[in-house]
Amino acid sequence: MSTDTIGVAIIGTGIKGITLALGLMSRGIPVRVYERARDFHEIGAGIGFTLNAEWAMKVVDPRIHAAFKRVAMPNASDWFQWVDGFNEPGTDPRETEEQLLFKIYLGERGFEDCHRAQFLGELARLLPENVVTSHKALDTVEPAADKSLGQLLRFQDGTTATNRP
Ligand SMILES: Cc1cc2nc3c(=O)[nH]c(=O)nc-3n(C[C@H](O)[C@H](O)[C@H](O)COP(=O)(O)OP(=O)(O)OC[C@H]3O[C@@H](n4cnc5c(N)ncnc54)[C@H](O)[C@@H]3O)c2cc1C
Repeated sequence: MSTDTIGVAIIGTGIKGITLALGLMSRGIPVRVYERARDFHEIGAGIGFTLNAEWAMKVVDPRIHAAFKRVAMPNASDWFQWVDGFNEPGTDPRETEEQLLFKIYLGERGFEDCHRAQFLGELARLLPENVVTSHKALDTVEPAADKSLGQLLRFQDGTTATNRP
């Protein structure tokens, strides 16, 4: 199947929705993104990525990785630690913290994090304007009556769309 017979509808402009859209578009696959909110939004928390995740960003679209690097900061620790959160710490006052089970060194700057909203903002800037439709909450998906149109998306405002261009 050639890429011009494929169309992908993506629901949500979170980090994954935008990342997927960029990756597909960079491979010549047309996408439309529908977001129920009126604009791009993210909670003000942080998010960190391992080197594997950074590698994946480069594979999907190097611009995604560059966007992350523009807002990334080194983490306070380059270790991932697993602790025993199941068993209560002992009664010995020296054992007030959960027991460390094991830890993995992630490498220098192997786990950088960023402010979610800043990363999302950088990603959103990479999307062409006409790709995202905001204030469109998906309700259901069903096969379109005309099979060549793929899937029929029904939105909560009563409108519909298909995933094929
Ligand atoms: C406290 C916390 C810490 C975390 N830390 C990390 C971390 O350090 N590293 C890491 O890799 N991951 C971390 N995660 C996980 C990571 O945050 C999530 O996996 C990721 O943000 C999810 O992105 P998303 O785009 O799939 O979803 P979301 O960010 O939830 O985006 C979904 C979007 O879809 C829209 N939407 C939903 N339903 C509809 C609909 N019906 N119609 C239209 N639009 C719709 C929403 O409005 C939203 O914009 C953490 C999660 C939490 C809760």
